[in-house]
Amino acid sequence: MTRFIFITGGVVSSLGKGLASAALGAVLQARGYKVRLRKLDPYLNVDPGTMSPYQHGECYVTDDGAETDLDLGHYERFTGVPSRQSDNITTGRIYSNIIAKERRGDYLGATVQVIPHVTDAIKEFVTADLGDADFLLCEVGGTVGDIESLPFLEAIRQLGNELGRERACFVHLTLVPWIASAGELKTKPTQHSVQQLQSVGIRCDILLCRSEHDIPASARKKIALFCNLREEAVIPALNARSIYEVPIQYHREGFDHEVLRHFGLPQPEPDLGRWTEIVRRVTQPEGEVEIAIVGKYTSLLDAYKSLNEALTHGGIANSVRVKLNWIESEIFEGDAPNFDALDGAHAILVPGGFGERGAEGKIRAVRYAREKKVPYFGICFGMQMACIEAARTLCGVAKASTTEFGPTPEPVVGLLTEWVRGNSLEKRGVGDNMGGTMRLGAYDCDLARGSIVADIYGKSRIQERHRHRYEVNINYKPMLEKAGLRFSGMSPDGELPEIVEIPDHPWFVGVQFHPELKSKPFEPHPLFTSFVKAAVTQSRLV
Ligand code: GLN
Repeated sequence: MTRFIFITGGVVSSLGKGLASAALGAVLQARGYKVRLRKLDPYLNVDPGTMSPYQHGECYVTDDGAETDLDLGHYERFTGVPSRQSDNITTGRIYSNIIAKERRGDYLGATVQVIPHVTDAIKEFVTADLGDADFLLCEVGGTVGDIESLPFLEAIRQLGNELGRERACFVHLTLVPWIASAGELKTKPTQHSVQQLQSVGIRCDILLCRSEHDIPASARKKIALFCNLREEAVIPALNARSIYEVPIQYHREGFDHEVLRHFGLPQPEPDLGRWTEIVRRVTQPEGEVEIAIVGKYTSLLDAYKSLNEALTHGGIANSVRVKLNWIESEIFEGDAPNFDALDGAHAILVPGGFGERGAEGKIRAVRYAREKKVPYFGICFGMQMACIEAARTLCGVAKASTTEFGPTPEPVVGLLTEWVRGNSLEKRGVGDNMGGTMRLGAYDCDLARGSIVADIYGKSRIQERHRHRYEVNINYKPMLEKAGLRFSGMSPDGELPEIVEIPDHPWFVGVQFHPELKSKPFEPHPLFTSFVKAAVTQSRLV
């Protein structure tokens, strides 16, 4: 029987509700329970695939090809449970399904309304596809009081009522700010937030209080009193040294104990050894390497959330701290580019990206890495730019480009118009819709025997997640191979280049997929482990 834990947020956004949900999932798992995590997003986009990562952070892609909120990345990194399309829904998707049904006439003349039709659709989504999970942790995006989250709150209120207290628990995350001028922590915003939740009929069972200062017993007591809770149900959530310390912290503060107590479930001792070891490696590294990330949205770290984490995981695997130097690629453009910014870098990475702006700078960064023999990792767009760079510099094809930037006489990278997914053929055309139409999700890739990547992965067939509309043009393969690039990963039908590498280089790998999406702190992705290792080697040379 699955029990439901609903996680809402109040006072301000960005308190780390996604992380809190993920870390609670990890502690419950450490107690031997099976968990699933799910997110309800109140915005009107059908999925975050069409949203700028600059505004919304990265779009996280699941094995089954869903473009989802980046919190699903936290869920996977903390629990190792692969997310699915059925783990993320938005207002946009709910409404588009309902409107399609209404147009088909499925409502048989009924007036279609928020209650019950929208709320029923939300409840159906929350309770579907749970498998054998002991707990579903369901996070509601946004903060209480937002107009757009009301139908979601109403739906979980109804669910709480239908399931009963033994099967539903409401956790509310708030902020307890420190007011420097008063030298005091203030509990009022939390009280108001809890009241606001009550005004939509939800009584929270556990309060998680984010704070930058220790929450003294007196403040905890006051919050409990005003919010109608037992003191033990007011859990302090202070800043941690590493996000991977949060599961340990929650356990110390009794969060998991309170959840299990709420449901009246047994409390087997948790095994938190995995997290202690990760925190030890993160906080006591044996060295440091610097990796330059040359991209476009570098001022918003959430735009490359999974990448950031995967590099940390590579550091964990090598017992080093990975210092990331985010560089706007445009600084390498113009007539006399200066590469000083790359001076201290022990390795260079060009991540996924879209559009022409900044692309020239990325191509130049690739050239720098290739010629100076600095380890280079190109991810998706970063692989495409590596192929264009090689075509231009090594093969003399000055006009080499991608059709993503407009018509070109030398489409080294071109629009993907058809590919095989399972037993079917996917087709795309130039004027197609932008939403949900890329090559998305996990695809097989065969690795060439004796290649660098075959050695790194230790196998010959891998599955990695994709999100791209363009692809290295196979017609240029012979030319690029002659110039020293090895096409070491191909789709099983041999049609789509998936990996290129340069054997005659300390570490030069470009991949069409996004390996960062599958990396976990307790299972660092082999490519990131190997790349950081190459950076360590490089750091010893300079
Ligand atoms: N813009 C490129 C494409 O669509 C690369 C996408 C990416 O880096 N995720 O193919």
